[in-house]
Amino acid sequence: MQYFQGKSVYKGIVMGPVAVLRKNDYQVKRTRIEDADAEILRVTGAVEAAKEQLGRLYNKAVQEVGEASAAIFEVHQMLLEDEDYLESIQSMIRTELVNAEYAAAATGDNFAQMFAAMDDDYMKARAADIKDISERLVRNLSGGADADLSSMEPSVIVADDLSPSETVQMDKEKILAFVTVHGSTNSHTAILARMMNIPALIGVPMKPDELKNGMTAVVDGFSGQVIFEPDETVKAETKKRIEEEAEKQKLLQELKGKENVTLDGRRIHIYANIGSVGDMGYVLENDAGGIGLFRSEFLYLGRNDFPTEEEQFQAYRQAAQMMAGKKVIIRTLDIGADKQVDYFQLGQEDNPAMGYRAIRICLKQPEIFKVQLRALLRAAVYGNLSIMYPMITSTEEVKQIYEIVAEVEEELKAQGVQYRIPEQGIMIETPAAVMISDRLAELVDFFSIGTNDLTQYTLAIDRQNERLDDFYNPHHEAILRMIQMVVENAHKCGKWAGICGELGADPTLTEQFVRMGVDELSVAPSMILKLRKIVREMKAEA
Ligand code: PEP
Ligand code: MG
Repeated sequence: MQYFQGKSVYKGIVMGPVAVLRKNDYQVKRTRIEDADAEILRVTGAVEAAKEQLGRLYNKAVQEVGEASAAIFEVHQMLLEDEDYLESIQSMIRTELVNAEYAAAATGDNFAQMFAAMDDDYMKARAADIKDISERLVRNLSGGADADLSSMEPSVIVADDLSPSETVQMDKEKILAFVTVHGSTNSHTAILARMMNIPALIGVPMKPDELKNGMTAVVDGFSGQVIFEPDETVKAETKKRIEEEAEKQKLLQELKGKENVTLDGRRIHIYANIGSVGDMGYVLENDAGGIGLFRSEFLYLGRNDFPTEEEQFQAYRQAAQMMAGKKVIIRTLDIGADKQVDYFQLGQEDNPAMGYRAIRICLKQPEIFKVQLRALLRAAVYGNLSIMYPMITSTEEVKQIYEIVAEVEEELKAQGVQYRIPEQGIMIETPAAVMISDRLAELVDFFSIGTNDLTQYTLAIDRQNERLDDFYNPHHEAILRMIQMVVENAHKCGKWAGICGELGADPTLTEQFVRMGVDELSVAPSMILKLRKIVREMKAEA
């Protein structure tokens, strides 16, 4: 039995098998082999396994993101049949008597370099695919369990660190918990864990390489502890606690269908934060009154090219339709900072959190923004959809956005495409936006306060920096006063104001927020019923 203490980013308790997720860029060792034929046979086995995995990934992707995005897995399958590529691996094994892993990795590098040097843009883009399939082969050859998460049983994912794009690609049904060595409690990976309603620990001083796939782990998101290979006593205690938690959840379920109204009649909207249409199940299951933040940038993560207008339209329309008339607020892409996407080619920045991100990209590269706006205006016809713009700092930005929206509207009109201009609001997540919220309120339909970034910018604390977790204090009086100010300025103009940052889900502040006059709290789906309980048991007028 081995105990480690980390920091919890989501409460809950689970027990299950470990799956160690190793990084793709691990070092491949070159070793000398005796039997080239046997080594080549290993390659054949790894290729067959890879084709099967890709077939499964294709089917899953068709269902989740549509055929166009899934096609990448077909391309990978075809590359695995490329004779030049396979012969190159075999010939390296025969002539240099090297191990299959090394031959696959080296051939992958050679081919990727060759493609990258080509003039044709399509061929250039294949460099990343070649690297990807070579890494898959290496993983299969070295028996890495991360090769195919889709075929594993629900597991405790153990990793050094996880990026949002790695997390978003995972099959949520297969994850019992996340346990990582690094990461900060305010990162998007932590946010995803909360959204997915799974216990997650970060800052765990373990050595993932020394852990074995399949060993049992208990993850206790209440105490922040993970226990590997628990003894029978711990196992029995854990089982009992899991049952007790399930019982508490059952009690909360009784609040489904009830209103979010205080004992003295003050009503508040409690909506859900989501990252993809795949999260809709959690939204409906937890009886959300609407979607207060659809982080649309997750549609852009974990892929090799921009999502098309059609793919985006389908996702937004589906969300609007599934919510059947309830509000669905879609935030335009908030790429940048920790949400990096290669094909955006954002380049290296000294200070990415304060860099080229979110609305700044959209205003500088309207051709990207317009595709998303077209999809949103078209999808707005199908339900109660609203658009929300991130990282606003000035009234000029809002005016520029409206000019681009007007251009998109003209284009759609000229093309005879059905559309609707929906309610448009902004995130208040910079101190500048707070200070001019009276002026901004005149321009927009609503405010949603992004306390994650607002805390980062107000306290000058990088939310990604795990060393600063102890200083990152969203309860700081400055933040609470800012929220009050924003709500008052919105109301003076007859507009509503909500909170969609993680602070909105903090149950110790719910009563205070209601008393401040906050109109809406948009939170991880798993928090909705917990907040409803607090609202229904409190009085707004103290
Ligand atoms: C925020 O900053 O509070 C927010 C909701 O946006 P994100 O966490 O996606 O930056
Ligand atoms: Mg933000």
